[in-house]
Amino acid sequence: MAYRKRLLVLDDERDIAEFVRDVAIESGYDALASNSSAAFPSVYSSDIDVVVLDLMMPGTDGIEIIRFLAECGSNTSVILISGYNAGVLHSAQELASEHGLHVIGSLTKPIRYEELEQLLATVPALLPMRRLSDTGRLEKPGIDEFIAAIDNGEIVPYFQPQLDIASQTLIGVEALVRWEHPYRGLLPAGLILELAHEADLLVELSTCVLNQSLTQCRKWLEEGLKTLVSINMSADIFKDLGLPTMLEEQLQMHRLDPGQITLEVTESALMQELVKSLDTLTRLRMKGIALSIDDFGTGYSSLVQLHRIPFSEMKIDRSFVVNALTDEEALAIVKITIMLGHELGMKVIAEGIENRQTWDLLATLGCDAAQGYFIAKPMPGDALSAWAQSHRTLH
Ligand code: C2E
Ligand code: MG
Ligand code: MG
Repeated sequence: MAYRKRLLVLDDERDIAEFVRDVAIESGYDALASNSSAAFPSVYSSDIDVVVLDLMMPGTDGIEIIRFLAECGSNTSVILISGYNAGVLHSAQELASEHGLHVIGSLTKPIRYEELEQLLATVPALLPMRRLSDTGRLEKPGIDEFIAAIDNGEIVPYFQPQLDIASQTLIGVEALVRWEHPYRGLLPAGLILELAHEADLLVELSTCVLNQSLTQCRKWLEEGLKTLVSINMSADIFKDLGLPTMLEEQLQMHRLDPGQITLEVTESALMQELVKSLDTLTRLRMKGIALSIDDFGTGYSSLVQLHRIPFSEMKIDRSFVVNALTDEEALAIVKITIMLGHELGMKVIAEGIENRQTWDLLATLGCDAAQGYFIAKPMPGDALSAWAQSHRTLH
């Protein structure tokens, strides 16, 4: 029998709950409406694919329901409804995502039929997930396997191009770690970082990616390709007072200028240990190595801190760039970041540019450089020269 997705709608206004239920049934769902938030825990079951939730209800409100879903480890999708302004909806959406819930959209009252119908069409079924666990998904690799992989050279950097927006030319690449696993395929950065964290090997991971990136940079130069390379560093590494000298030696060994590398560190990680890192960061800059503040906008740096650290570059977090065309608040953050970066004398780069419209928007806003799938996805080091040759301008 065909799998029918299941929907549960909770809204204290009975006619709205029933309206959502009816649209869902017309869209092929098994749907249930409830107008009592107190009864929600007894109506909800873990096989429900999507919960449509009113935020503003008397008694138990929508935020409490989100907490309930998170506490029972639910992996349902969520659609939020609210009479509030966009700001409140946005905050609730963030909160739900932080609790690990998959928010697929939000609706403001009065709800429009087409809008709801479209959202319902995008709800992923829980079924494939259940099937996956039934048939036994491949387990996460163990720490021993990970340590062996570092030694075997399976942990490698891929490189994603960065373009100067005005000239559309290649100015640099960002090294992004990947695991070329012999039978699991190409494993992503998130998993590798998780394992490195568990094994207390974050610093070793940074060093491993750094060494390979410098070797690759030298190779490119020999192929006639001059490009800067940015390397992501875990914040802990900056507490090591020996880092500037170690880097200088590495650069000399590979016959590279300090100006050819940029070290990226995420805003949120760095600010926690700022005092211990300031010495190293300042000396790195004095030696001519560029420093980039990554995922800007997601941490809590104050203007004073930004002024104290000698950053040369600011990277606007992907979440703002991706939403800048459709979300006014994301657009405001992008605009302010560009202004702030420029006022502090930094180069501003936008990551996560996925289409021509976003590229055009960032160009209009005066952003300096861009990185994203619209330009190219991360690729192995030996593919970059060919890419650079075939890339002239963006079509
Ligand atoms: P990041 O440094 O902010 O890197 C950008 C991430 O966005 C990369 O994910 C990249 O593949 C992805 N990306 C680039 N363009 C687009 C786009 O247009 N659309 C979308 N949806 N995504 C895009 P990735 O490679 O999975 O890396 C995730 C994070 O892991 C990185 O974020 C970085 O913080 C960390 N990381 C990656 N490599 C290393 C490493 O060697 N050492 C350390 N310490 N962290 C690393
Ligand atoms: Mg980065
Ligand atoms: Mg980033």
